Formats: sequence, C-alpha cells, structure tokens
Amino acid sequence: MIAENLQRIRAELPEGVLLVAVSKTKPVEDILEAYRAGQRDFGENKVQEMVGKKDQLPADIRWHMIGHLQTNKVKYIVPFVHLIHSVDSLKLLRTVDKEARKVNKVQDVLLEIHIAKEPSKFGFVFEDLLTLLREGTWRELTHVRICGVMGMATFTDDHEQVRSEFRYLHDCFDRLQQEFFAGASHFREISMGMSGDYPIAVEEGSTIVRIGTLIFGERNYL
Ligand SMILES: *Cc1c(COP(=O)(O)O)cnc(C)c1O
Repeated sequence: MIAENLQRIRAELPEGVLLVAVSKTKPVEDILEAYRAGQRDFGENKVQEMVGKKDQLPADIRWHMIGHLQTNKVKYIVPFVHLIHSVDSLKLLRTVDKEARKVNKVQDVLLEIHIAKEPSKFGFVFEDLLTLLREGTWRELTHVRICGVMGMATFTDDHEQVRSEFRYLHDCFDRLQQEFFAGASHFREISMGMSGDYPIAVEEGSTIVRIGTLIFGERNYL
C-alpha cells in the first residue's frame, strides 16, 4: 500500500518538487517500506521520535524537522538533520547556529511564516520577520543557511482561502528574496502543501510538499 501511495503521489508531482514523507507516529517498518520504494526524505515533528527512529534506519535517509522546535532540544538533531523547516524565532536560529558550529556543519533551515487564520499555529508574523531581518544581526550567523520559507494553511474545505494563503506565502518568499537573498541560489525553497491541500500548494509554486496521511494512512494519536 505505502509503495503504491508513493507512486501515485510522485506521478502527480511536477519535476523539481520534493516529496517529504511525513512519518510521525508511524513505526520504522512503515518507513522502511517507503524507503524500499525509493523514498529518502522523511519528516518528523518531535525530536525524541526522530532521534529514536534515525538510529534504527538507513543512514542515507534525509531527515526533515517539520514541527515546533524548542531551543533546548536543537542539539539532539543538528548533528544529522537535513533541513529544519520550523525556525520561528531569532533565538532558535541562534541556537541552531551555535549547535551547528559545535559539530562543524552549516545547517540548512527554513523560516516558518504564519499564514493561516487559525491563531494556534506557529510561525513568524511576516511584518515582524521583516523588522527582525532588517536589524541585520542574523547575518553574523555563519553556521546556518536560510534556504526559504515554510507555512501551513488553514485547515478548511474552502479552497480559495487555502489558495490565497499559499499565494501569500509565495509573496513573502519573493519579498525576502528581493530584499535579503538576491543572488543567493540556495534561497529557493517554499515548503507548503500537506495531504489535504498539496495540489493547490503545487499550483501556487511549492517546492517541497510534506505528506503523511496519503502515504501512511490515518494517524492514531494515543
Ligand atoms: C503532520 C504534518 C504534515 C502532514 O500532514 P498530513 O495531513 O498527514 O499529510 C505536514 N506538515 C506538518 C508541519 C505536519 O505537522
């Protein structure tokens, strides 16, 4: 089933859009099944769960941290994580820089931007992010590389609402690129789109989709 699901989704994705298989709450056997079907990028939202699974799985898996990250846990993932999608404060960015320096690595990250109507989701308010980046101290951080943005749309059946939120994130990306990352070829990622809304996200220019349920089935939260 997992292999078929992957195949179906991959066939729909345009070239150049990365599929991150979101394996949170799912056992290592499921991840291995996806791995055997050629999948290498996996997303988790909890540090402990990611670390625990990583040790039981092939070393060439690229791990993506997609969930809210506490500064005191950064050190556990930086040695191996491929991309952190969920940087939502300067404090967190500084911590990632510090931990990456310790292991002699430049850590790729995305800036999470709040695009949904729901108040509970994490992420920078875009205007606050602009203010913060204009202050310029982030430029001193030599062990993080900001590769783009990430966002989660409102959980709703209103496709136009979702589309306008993704369009807004693309807009934020364009503005950041213009003002802070002009000519930086690594600043190119827009991580948006989940099981319920990824076709819209792709239409709006997503470069990374994060899909769980459509690959692994419904999650049981215990
Ligand atoms: C769980 C999760 C996903 C995947 O959600 P599905 O609806 O199962 O595809 C994507 N992004 C984030 C940040 C998540 O926490």
